[in-house]
Amino acid sequence: MSTRPLRAVIVGAGIGGLCLAQGLHAAGIDVAVFERDAAPDARLQGYRLNIEPVGSRALHDCLPAHLWQVLVATAGDPGPGMGVFTERLRLLMREDAPPAERDPSEQTHAVSRVTLRRLLLAGLDDVVHFGKEFTGYRQNADGTVTAQFADGTSATGDLLVGADGVNSRVRRQLLPHARRTPVPGVGIGGKLRLDDGAAWLPEEMTSTKNMFLPKRDFLFTAVFRRRETDGATVERIGDQMRAVGLDPELLVQDAKDDDYVMWAYVAHRRVLPADLLDAPAGGRGQRLRELVTSRLADWHPDLRELIAQTPADTIERFDFATAERVKPWPTTNVTVLGDAIHSMPPVGGLGGNAALYDAGALRRALIAVGQGEDDLLPALAAYERAMLNNGFAAVRAATMYLRLATLPSRAVRTIARTFFRLCGVLPPLRRAIFSD
Ligand SMILES: Cc1cc2nc3c(=O)[nH]c(=O)nc-3n(C[C@H](O)[C@H](O)[C@H](O)COP(=O)(O)OP(=O)(O)OC[C@H]3O[C@@H](n4cnc5c(N)ncnc54)[C@H](O)[C@@H]3O)c2cc1C
Repeated sequence: MSTRPLRAVIVGAGIGGLCLAQGLHAAGIDVAVFERDAAPDARLQGYRLNIEPVGSRALHDCLPAHLWQVLVATAGDPGPGMGVFTERLRLLMREDAPPAERDPSEQTHAVSRVTLRRLLLAGLDDVVHFGKEFTGYRQNADGTVTAQFADGTSATGDLLVGADGVNSRVRRQLLPHARRTPVPGVGIGGKLRLDDGAAWLPEEMTSTKNMFLPKRDFLFTAVFRRRETDGATVERIGDQMRAVGLDPELLVQDAKDDDYVMWAYVAHRRVLPADLLDAPAGGRGQRLRELVTSRLADWHPDLRELIAQTPADTIERFDFATAERVKPWPTTNVTVLGDAIHSMPPVGGLGGNAALYDAGALRRALIAVGQGEDDLLPALAAYERAMLNNGFAAVRAATMYLRLATLPSRAVRTIARTFFRLCGVLPPLRRAIFSD
């Protein structure tokens, strides 16, 4: 087994690429990340990301302890378990809540994307290179691989990781046969602030995430509540943050976006009138809200009110596509992670968690190589098997939820509702299916 120091080249400074970079950097492995965006703040998005235990474990393992602690302190609490209801708010099933005493690395966290990005970039100034658009790679006779960038520069390493998202150029060169297909669903989502004016919201909607399964279409809600006030966070760990060069005021300000209920309405694409299909993003919130309201005519008044009260400027539309399952390929020194290989509709909030899982698994594999316990190609082959299994299981789950929302069949709906009702009354069945 080789004990030569490893050099890893990562393309893409998104969630998965940066989590891997943190984990390798902390383990003393030489790593460089190349990102197309010109600067760290080029694309900051305001909404929160639900990090499930699978993602929390990876972040806990990859991030230095002080950054993990800040992540937990600034994250919101998405509440215990998930409820499944009819459109008349009749409970079909409630997923079991995880034990309260669980370690934070085994819990769910609602993290601000902006804060997560700042934490993932912290301490990596010399590692992450912005303004580097990857154009292709070349595998060299000495076993190394060279990534080429649009500005004419290049970077060579022992392995190349494509963490470059849904339109991955690394994947296109490595697996030209891999396909992404549009799916006929459409998502419409909005945010309602949890201030005094929202006191009428049913308790379930302000305390946990929920799925509403009517006779057609589908609604999902999630709650984002901070665990403590900004002042309390700064007071509690402000000194620790400053000691490692983080600005606590800036971090809590980023994480601050108000507590809110997020909803996502999912239906077949044909519910969209032709003019809304092509309408430009800005200013279509009002029309989208009217559309959802018209589909909810016989739903419980509280659900209709949720949509009616949501400010139009928070309402957006999402089109969906999904990666087709890729058969394992002969492993080389070029690999992929996250959306680059197993992208999926955001129904269920699984994509980012799958990218984090990959980062955690690849980190472990490369540490074993760096310590001389394994050779690079067998380690990468084992990583790719685990990554494909986990990633495409998430793709299947997201696709199943989407099918449920878009299939016109009443019979399928009835079976699904019966299934959740059975899970509701049979705890062993529920635990077998829904415990992570
Ligand atoms: C509305 C919405 C809500 C979501 N909510 C959740 C949620 O709650 N939980 C969850 O787990 N997931 C969620 N997701 C999915 C999640 O955002 C993605 O699955 C996740 O970001 C994938 O991470 P990644 O690192 O693979 O790719 P990305 O985060 O997309 O990163 C890819 C990076 O590669 C860079 N790049 C691309 N091409 C090049 C190139 N040629 N050269 C150099 N760099 C390049 C990009 O600029 C980008 O920075 C949601 C998605 C959407 C759309």
